[in-house]
Amino acid sequence: MAEQKTIDFLRKKFSSFYRENFIDSVPEIERREFGYGEYGKKIIARHYSFGSAKEFNSFLREKTPFYVSYSPAFYDFPDKRPMERKKYLKSDIIYEFDADDLKTECKQKHDSWKCRECKAEGKGLVERCPSCGSATETTEWVCDECLEATKKQTLKLINFLENDFNFTEGISVNFSGGKGYHLHLRSEKIQGLNANARIELVDFLTAQEIDLEQLGFVYSNKKMLCPMESTAFGWSKKILFSLKNMIEKDEAEKIAALGNARVSTIKKILEKKELVLKGMQNGFLFPVTRADDSSKNFWESLLSNLVEKEKLFLDRQTSVDLAKIIRVPNTIHGSTGLTATEFEREKLMKFNPLKESIIFSTNPLKVFVRTAPKFSLGGENFGPFEEQETDLPEFAAIYLMARNSANLSEKQTFGKSLSKKFSPAFSEKAGIEQKRI
Ligand SMILES: [Zn+2]
Ligand SMILES: [Zn+2]
Repeated sequence: MAEQKTIDFLRKKFSSFYRENFIDSVPEIERREFGYGEYGKKIIARHYSFGSAKEFNSFLREKTPFYVSYSPAFYDFPDKRPMERKKYLKSDIIYEFDADDLKTECKQKHDSWKCRECKAEGKGLVERCPSCGSATETTEWVCDECLEATKKQTLKLINFLENDFNFTEGISVNFSGGKGYHLHLRSEKIQGLNANARIELVDFLTAQEIDLEQLGFVYSNKKMLCPMESTAFGWSKKILFSLKNMIEKDEAEKIAALGNARVSTIKKILEKKELVLKGMQNGFLFPVTRADDSSKNFWESLLSNLVEKEKLFLDRQTSVDLAKIIRVPNTIHGSTGLTATEFEREKLMKFNPLKESIIFSTNPLKVFVRTAPKFSLGGENFGPFEEQETDLPEFAAIYLMARNSANLSEKQTFGKSLSKKFSPAFSEKAGIEQKRI
């Protein structure tokens, strides 16, 4: 557990951030429910409301919680309890992408586990101890690689929303401040959707219970039939589109891998590409071998693998639970000391969360680090550290203290800035008014 002086130090730093920055990221703030958390606990109290952004900012400056969340839902009486007495009006939809939900290879490098019973330990995320089967304690980190994977999911979602649903208005994106991204959908069209429609939407995005036959891919008369491009929509259209794309680009290796076939076989078929594409227009997919059986297997494997590749891995609960509250954009994430930076969605491709969400300085700070793998922050590499005292730029020291990996050292030596490479890029790139403190 972190020492009290570390917690006090963090609160003081967070408070000075809120004194210098006015947080105005919640539309119709007086209709929202708020909750907040303290060191190590994301939500300890909820059912709060604020009459204005000004009132909310006074709260942030004076109380300075470690986490603050708001409701995507709008209420007549947001502070009443139980929930029914709030009088629900409408709700935004929030989609959450978290690096924990994606199986990226980098986890083998930066995550670790320890057995609660036999004390065995190792790298990666392991829920059950391989030697004794007991539950493990896991330590998770993020890096550019896993955050990039969640970014890809977010981009894919925006693509789904724009192309499949024509939702182009009222989309707001922010870094979560920790392990991923949040997408807030705030258009009137979205706000009026009932609970069932929200479930249908998330089922579509995550490709729940997809039935290839229902989508028009039917094996009949020794042929795999496909829907007609002109009338296809939703997943049928998506599948046809990526299939056509792979054929047009001669991606024989990719097709073979998805369908579990020999590359040479597919290459041969693609020699007659025009014929293959014409067949698709007429409602059937190319046969793979003369044995009908393997053609059926090939197509079933390819089509379902395509769906796996295209579907989204998002936190289902966040998007369908009308009573859930979520981090207020541009506030501090108390486990990292980074902000949940909001930015224009056109900037998503280039957004660098581990650089542009840094709000603290490069002034040196002495901390005692319990344990940390090699990690990258603000474009610099730090660590690995094991039970040692070290000088770090303030932003990196705060990052470790916030995630309970370090404590503030007793003796501080004040000198010149430790990091020359690091340049404050937060406000220009994010396009919001925030100052480095
Ligand atoms: Zn064990
Ligand atoms: Zn990673």
